Amino acid sequence: MRIKMPEAVSMIINRLLDAGFEAYSVGGCVRDALLSRVPYDWDITTSATPDKVKSIFHRTVDTGIKHGTVTVLVRSESFEVTTYRVDGKYLDGRHPESVSFTRSLTEDLLRRDFTINAMAYNDESGLVDPYGGEQDLAARIIRCVGDPMARFGEDALRMLRAIRFAACLSFAIEDATMAAIKELAASISAVSAERICAELCKLLTSDRPELISLLYDTGLSEYVMPGLDRVFESPRKDDMLAALTRSGSDKVVRWAILTHFTGSAREIMRSLKFDNKTTDGVCLLTSRSDASYRDISRSDLKKNMAVLGTELLPAWFDFLDALHGEGFSEGLRATSADILTKRECFRMSELDITGKDVLALGCPGGIVVGKVLGDILEKVIDDPSLNEREKLLPLAGEIIGSLT
Ligand code: ATP
Ligand code: MG
Repeated sequence: MRIKMPEAVSMIINRLLDAGFEAYSVGGCVRDALLSRVPYDWDITTSATPDKVKSIFHRTVDTGIKHGTVTVLVRSESFEVTTYRVDGKYLDGRHPESVSFTRSLTEDLLRRDFTINAMAYNDESGLVDPYGGEQDLAARIIRCVGDPMARFGEDALRMLRAIRFAACLSFAIEDATMAAIKELAASISAVSAERICAELCKLLTSDRPELISLLYDTGLSEYVMPGLDRVFESPRKDDMLAALTRSGSDKVVRWAILTHFTGSAREIMRSLKFDNKTTDGVCLLTSRSDASYRDISRSDLKKNMAVLGTELLPAWFDFLDALHGEGFSEGLRATSADILTKRECFRMSELDITGKDVLALGCPGGIVVGKVLGDILEKVIDDPSLNEREKLLPLAGEIIGSLT
């Protein structure tokens, strides 16, 4: 059994070994490498204490020194090197009261959440897998290390992680692990909105977004996304799952689909502490979900393009296709592409005159300038050939005249 590690990771491990310590790549990267997936990042676990790690490498950052984590910088890359540790008692359902270092890799692996995340590897020792992770990988099972009731009791976030991994890897959740989630679902309330949001995003943008149903099956949805239960208890459930499955994995599109069915998109996004850009994007899509969009005029399409911006446009079309069926937005896509190639104006900033011009024509300023430009934009949207200075200046004069 051999895993091909990035050169920098091998280098870090070898330097620690040469200094007389143990060191392994560990957790998600070992899991992903065994699955022939490209790991997102490589974490290293070592018997060396943080001060030893810092003395061995020139460039380090004290990222989580209290928890034994030192970031080692190699060229432009960074790697987390964490000392073998055991977590103390969990009092708040989320954070260990204290952590202490240990000399034993097996003990460090024991604190990890799932068997598939509790494996370590280096070239000298090969795979270290005391809890049957490799077997569960092969059987495609998410199983807690140790007693699931105890493990979820320590840290409630692990319940959501179990479901997220099931969706991302397309694995099943082992029975006792699943039963414990059902039993302890309410304790997810101890977890911060940000952490919940991060897990829900990974779940929803995975290859199996329909596994959002596990949130309902386990009872977690009641606490992490009120509103979802009502959908699951209605015939619209199947439409929602079908739409999610049909859509591409874009975050904004997937959240727009979900909140289209739950309703209250802005409230949900806000309570999960989403950034404004994502929230606004999702709300712009959910407010444009109707099947009648297929038949809107070229002018109305331009008005929607002005509000959505070119960045959100593909997401909107994906969203409509997901809701109304493949190919639904074909006409809209073709027309918008045509509008863009012909560089037809659909925003004030693309008009061939500016607010300054309007002011120079004697417009009394402020809000009125915006109104004049807005009126002109309407006309230009209907007739792109109008968008020339020589035509727009007299038009602006006329509109100002009619206002005063
Ligand atoms: P990914 O990075 O692909 O989301 P990962 O498994 O690497 O997945 P991380 O959150 O990066 O997940 O954590 C790295 C490792 O730390 C995990 O593989 C696991 O061994 C351990 N771990 C992370 N979070 C927890 C937790 N809440 N409880 C126990 N162990 C955890
Ligand atoms: Mg990771």
